[in-house]
Amino acid sequence: MSLSLIAKSIKPSPTLALNEKFAILKEKGDPVIHLGGGEPKTRVPMEAIMATVSHVNTGEVRYAPADGIPALKQAVIRYTEEFYDRKVTPQHIIASGGAKQAIMVALQAILNPQEEVIFPAPYWVSYPDMARLIGAIPVPALPEDGTFYPRLKDIEDRVGSYTKAVIINSPNNPTGAMYSEEFISDVVQFCEKKDIWLIMDDIYHRLIFDGRKIINPFKYAKKQDENSKLIIVNGVSKQYAMTGFRIGWAVGNKKVIAAMSNIQGHQTSGPSVLLQKAAVGALNGIQSSVESLRVTLENNRNVMIGLLNSFEGVKVTKPDGTFYCFADFSVYNKSSNVLSAFLIDKVQVLTVPGAEFGLEGYLRLSYCGTIKDIQDGIERMKWALDPNSPNELYIGDRKLVRDWS
Ligand code: PMP
Repeated sequence: MSLSLIAKSIKPSPTLALNEKFAILKEKGDPVIHLGGGEPKTRVPMEAIMATVSHVNTGEVRYAPADGIPALKQAVIRYTEEFYDRKVTPQHIIASGGAKQAIMVALQAILNPQEEVIFPAPYWVSYPDMARLIGAIPVPALPEDGTFYPRLKDIEDRVGSYTKAVIINSPNNPTGAMYSEEFISDVVQFCEKKDIWLIMDDIYHRLIFDGRKIINPFKYAKKQDENSKLIIVNGVSKQYAMTGFRIGWAVGNKKVIAAMSNIQGHQTSGPSVLLQKAAVGALNGIQSSVESLRVTLENNRNVMIGLLNSFEGVKVTKPDGTFYCFADFSVYNKSSNVLSAFLIDKVQVLTVPGAEFGLEGYLRLSYCGTIKDIQDGIERMKWALDPNSPNELYIGDRKLVRDWS
C-alpha cells in the first residue's frame, strides 16, 4: 500500500499495545497481571470531577482557544511560580492534549527535517517516533559508564552541526532515575552555550522518593528573557492520576509558544474545555492526593525492590522516583521481547521489553498497581523463570504446570 515514508517509519506505541492486550485478556476472564502500565490507580481529585460536571451542566460545551483556556493558564502560572520560581504570563504557556502533544508540537515548532534531537537512553518510547514523525533524527545517548545516570559528556559527544534540541526526562521513564542537580545544571548551561533547545519533560517531577527535592532547571538558566530556549513540559496525567483527561502544558518563550499554538490550532484545536476545567480543578484544589500518591508509590517501590533483590540473577537499580523499575533480566534471555512474550504466554504477567526503551535485556516493571499485583506478578515471574521452581503453580483455582526448562 502506498503509505507515506513517515507512516512507514513509525512503530505502534508498545505501551499502548500492551494496554490493549491487557484489556483483551481481562475480557476473556484470564487472570492477567499488568506490570507494564503507566498510570496510577488512585482516584481523580474530587475538584477535577466537580469542575467537569459543573461545566457539562451549563449545557454549553464549545471550542476552547487553541492554546488553552485562561483559567488553566492562570493555574499553570501559579504552578510555575511554586515549582519553578518563575513568573510567566499567559503568552508563555500552551495547554495541550497531554504532555505528549505538548512535546510533539514543541518538536514541530523547533526542528526541521534531518535535524537531530538528543535524549539520554533508556528513553520514553515515544521520543524516537515523535522525532521521526517530523522527519527529524532521534539521537539516543546511552550513558557510557553503564548506569542510568547520564553525564554531560554523554550528551556533548553526540552534539554536531545538525543538533537542534535535547530532551531530558527526570525522574525518568523507564528507569526511575532522577538525574543529579549537577547534571541538570550542566545541561541547562551547555544548551544555552550551544544555543540548543532544551525540553525538560517534568511529568514525574513531584513523584520522587527518599526525601529528594524537586529540581528547578530555571535556577541554572542565565537567559531569563525571550531568548531562552528552555521549554518545560508538565501535566496532570501522572501526579493527579488523570491520564484519561489528556491535559498537559508547556512553558517557553513567547515566540515558540505562539508557533506551537499555531501548529496545535491546525492539528487539533485546543484540548476539550471540559478536560481543561478538570485540570484547573486539580491544580487549584487540595493537593493532598499528590502526596498520598507519592507515599503509596514509594512504599510500592520498596516492596518491588525487595522482591526483585531476592530474584536470583536479576540486577536492579533502585528507582528514585516515578512508578517504574527497569531491571536487568538478561541472565534469563538476551532478548527482552522474547522474555516479555514468554511471561505473558506462560504466567500472564505483562511487562514492557527493555528494547522498546533502547536497552536490551531489561524489562520495565511498573509499581503503580496494587501491592498484591506486585507480589503475585513477581512470584509468577520467578516461578516461570527459575529452573528450581516447583513444577506447579496455582493461580486461583487454575493449576499451571511447568512444561519448559
Ligand atoms: N513523558 C513521559 C516520560 C511519559 O512517561 C509520558 C506518559 N507515559 C508522557 C510524557 C505523556 O504524558 P501525557 O499522558 O500527559 O500525555
